[in-house]
Amino acid sequence: NRENHLRTERLHVMSELSASVTHEIRNPLTVTKGFLQLLNVSKTISTQDKVYIDYSLKELLRAESILSDYLAFSKPQSEHMVYSNLKEDMEYVQNVLSPFALYNKVEIVSTFSNSLKKEYDQNQIKQCFINLMKNGIEAMKGEGGTLYVDVTEQGNYIMINIKDCGVGMTKDEILHLGKPYYSNKKEGTGLGMLLVYGTISKMKGKIDVQSKKGVGTTFTITIPT
Ligand code: ADP
Ligand code: MG
Repeated sequence: NRENHLRTERLHVMSELSASVTHEIRNPLTVTKGFLQLLNVSKTISTQDKVYIDYSLKELLRAESILSDYLAFSKPQSEHMVYSNLKEDMEYVQNVLSPFALYNKVEIVSTFSNSLKKEYDQNQIKQCFINLMKNGIEAMKGEGGTLYVDVTEQGNYIMINIKDCGVGMTKDEILHLGKPYYSNKKEGTGLGMLLVYGTISKMKGKIDVQSKKGVGTTFTITIPT
């Protein structure tokens, strides 16, 4: 449909832009970081100035991590196609996120069916589910809760369900998902869902969003095998 078409279009523009932008930005970041680190060990620098330098270094690190998170997405040559087991990759993602979940008082309850094998871009799919699960955890921030993650095989489809009981979204908010830089968070990048829609559309999959403000959100993703 039209909405999906628009999303794919946005994605192409975005990925071409970010491929070059990422490269152009990484170099000056590295150079600036190097000089700041040099300054930081200089004997003529006051304690107060060191605090400023530390803040600057922290912010540079943050910028670098934003680039890293989306680099796999923006560089076509970094595609990493493998015939892999989705169950293992989901377990990996769950492990990566477990400290973040614990910190936010969120329990991740998962059921993974066995032998869900398919050829896909492993880095992208990991990043995709990291982004989805991270959003689920962030939606339950403060009070905590349970994040349910199910992966099952149904006929010729792999079906992935990610359910949270967090803040939820209005219909209008759901329509904005996948737009570059659309974020309602203080420290959000607004790039997470863009990557999710891109990855799933590349795999010819579908994303269904059920959400209710104040109740929670369920993402259902179906990917043909
Ligand atoms: P970010 O997480 O950096 O804000 P995303 O692209 O990952 O960017 O998500 C965009 C926005 O979509 C979020 O800011 C949030 O408002 C909304 N959103 C995404 N997932 C959920 C969810 N599980 N529950 C509630 N809102 C969500
Ligand atoms: Mg996010």
